[in-house]
Amino acid sequence: MTDVHSKETRSYNMSKIKGKDTAPELLVRTFLHKNGFRYRIHVNDLPGKPDIVLPKYKTVIFVHGCFWHGHEDCKYYVVPKTRTEWWLNKINTNIINDQITQGKLIEKGWRIVEIWECDLKKVKIEATLLALKESFGIIK
Ligand SMILES: [Zn+2]
Repeated sequence: MTDVHSKETRSYNMSKIKGKDTAPELLVRTFLHKNGFRYRIHVNDLPGKPDIVLPKYKTVIFVHGCFWHGHEDCKYYVVPKTRTEWWLNKINTNIINDQITQGKLIEKGWRIVEIWECDLKKVKIEATLLALKESFGIIK
């Protein structure tokens, strides 16, 4: 069987499927690392298994895909014209779960940072990451 994908492409596809280590999340992690922030990833013992956790700052970061998490007024959140109801149901379930997760984390005293995939696109990424960094500065 011929495999048209390079190894890199394939592992990227796989990570997309599992919803872990997605490219937008890696962008944030690389930035944090470069700026000397220590973090943990996919922390299972916190509600919602946050993508990135910074224990020192009692902060969790969720990197949300605009489509799957229903980013309001975002051009990347377009509900498919077929099986619309099914998609809406799925996405709304994700939104509700996000809210429940956030409520639990806030109760435990965590600060939550949500970063949307669209804010990590080329035109916006610099401002997004700078704002993220500055938000930690305020806490210090
Ligand atoms: Zn978006």
